Amino acid sequence: MTKIPAYWTSPLTHEFEVSIESVEKSENYYHIQIREDVIRPAGGGQAGDRGFLYVEDTKTRIHDTISDASDIVLITDGPVPEGSKGHLEIDMDWRLSMMRNHTAQHLFVSFLRKREEKLNVGNLWIDGIHGTVELVGAKLNHDVIFEAEEEVTKVIEEDISVNIDFVDSDKIGPSVRSREGLSDRLDKLRIVSVGHLDQSACSGIHVPSTGAIGFFKVIDFKMNDERTSVEFLTGIKATITVSNLYNEVLRRKYDYPYEMDQLGAVLDRSKEAIDIKQKLIEKVTTLLTSDPSAEWISSVHFKHEYLPGFDANTLKILANQIEMKEPTVLLLFAPGRKSHVVLKTNEMPREAAAYIRNPIIELGGRGGGKAELFSGGFVDCENSENLYESLVSLVRELIV
Ligand SMILES: [Zn+2]
Repeated sequence: MTKIPAYWTSPLTHEFEVSIESVEKSENYYHIQIREDVIRPAGGGQAGDRGFLYVEDTKTRIHDTISDASDIVLITDGPVPEGSKGHLEIDMDWRLSMMRNHTAQHLFVSFLRKREEKLNVGNLWIDGIHGTVELVGAKLNHDVIFEAEEEVTKVIEEDISVNIDFVDSDKIGPSVRSREGLSDRLDKLRIVSVGHLDQSACSGIHVPSTGAIGFFKVIDFKMNDERTSVEFLTGIKATITVSNLYNEVLRRKYDYPYEMDQLGAVLDRSKEAIDIKQKLIEKVTTLLTSDPSAEWISSVHFKHEYLPGFDANTLKILANQIEMKEPTVLLLFAPGRKSHVVLKTNEMPREAAAYIRNPIIELGGRGGGKAELFSGGFVDCENSENLYESLVSLVRELIV
């Protein structure tokens, strides 16, 4: 067994002396091979370490670290002399974020798998900003994702220690999940355990205890029948993102009065308002270009309009504003979950109710009125357009 690298046993150690073996230019970067296995290369769905390399008076930024066969290669901004000695400093902000993201991902997947045993990890990407995990083998839904997220939060609060053991491969039980990217540099498997919650063979880097994750937040997901891809943040990055979002909402609270816990209902209303606006635009366009909804039934002018976005009151105001010179029956209908209807007559032999009361009752609604005005409504309308069409034909029959 070759020497176990420091990033596996003491990932908080971040300064090392290194020997520069070779330097090659590659497009915009330099590939610097070092002899010591002290900085973690990309692998197993986890990004490589970042940092700085100091050689004599030169300071070079390390953008990424990769492994080339068994060699460690730093991807840097600039060159350093081959055969020289250098000082390497790991970017701990990047590494600690990776450690948090990676450990959180272990827990999250483990809780999801408690619900869906057939679930497996597909593509995985963890870096110093965020994590994305693809889940295959079972169909997920929002609730399962949010419940697993909540369980991760509880485990963060419990601050359970994360233990690393090196075990002979033939001693691994079937309950231990294997993760991609297991190092072939060792003849033993590295087992990462979070208390009794999760055990997996893994080559990644992890926080020493779950409390260090700080905060775990799913920020997006895409799902279809085959796979679900979940993006998440941890630690301060999650806190800042959630805090900014909350403040965006809070900033509008007094301009558009609502309670924070009604945000879902506000969004539903907003979606409904957009739909209504679109239908209203279509309606106005039709009215401006033609007047298809007015018809003559012998000497009676029958006008009927389908008016999205109107309520019972605005419908009545509009009915009173429309000028009627000859014998007329005016029917105005505002669609929605609760649909409203107003019928107004002018110079007709019978009262308004005679043309509309029975059609409304027949279609399951209620209403009332006297003389020339009758108003009514329907609740729980599944299909307002059909309802309107039926109402128009029933009224038409009564005018004849
Ligand atoms: Zn891991």
